[in-house]
Amino acid sequence: MATKKLTISISEYTVPKGSSNMQYKNKLNFLLMPLILMTASCVHYVPAIYNTEREYHLPYSKGDSRLLIQGPNGIFSHRGRGFEFDFLMPINTPILAAKGGVVLAVEDSFGKRCPLTKNCNVNFVAIQHGDGSIGRYLHINQYSACVPSTQNIEQGDIIALSGNVGVSLLPHLHFEVLWPKDVEANPPSFIEVDHRGSGVPKTGRRYVSANAIKIDHCKTLSRP
Ligand SMILES: [Zn+2]
Repeated sequence: MATKKLTISISEYTVPKGSSNMQYKNKLNFLLMPLILMTASCVHYVPAIYNTEREYHLPYSKGDSRLLIQGPNGIFSHRGRGFEFDFLMPINTPILAAKGGVVLAVEDSFGKRCPLTKNCNVNFVAIQHGDGSIGRYLHINQYSACVPSTQNIEQGDIIALSGNVGVSLLPHLHFEVLWPKDVEANPPSFIEVDHRGSGVPKTGRRYVSANAIKIDHCKTLSRP
């Protein structure tokens, strides 16, 4: 990430009144942050429905509110890339298919997080949709994929559990939609998202899912 050069000398700043109190409050907020995050993941919200004709649901359970920490062309790791979305979520959060299709590929054998290198193996589930596009769900936890290749998946099926594996700074789900080169690529448009009528989520906003669980493949799976 590029850092802006500061041209103002630090001596030009004044210390605001009550700053020691503010410092105390900041420290308190920092200490309470894990608690706030844990509580936030337990609360259920009412999702907004903007357009039921759109093809995508958010890839997490109905009533969950998740922060989009990076969207398409994001400055951290999505610059110059396609339709990519990073939703902040605790490890082992169920991941729901945003759109139905057939499982194309699965990788969940890796367990390492390496945020500072680019050559780092990542776990994922890839689902081929009927329109030729592919939805990929990245950074899933080790051995957490619950669907084998060629399995038919419906929108709302639980397919894996989220993680923090690969090039990842925080526990999150990276969801992306890929298109074949010879096909016009359309951004995924979500039922629960407004953003000027586009349905495409915007970085820094929280979105509540309306994706109702159909089949929980993680429940029925017997692991080796
Ligand atoms: Zn990402």
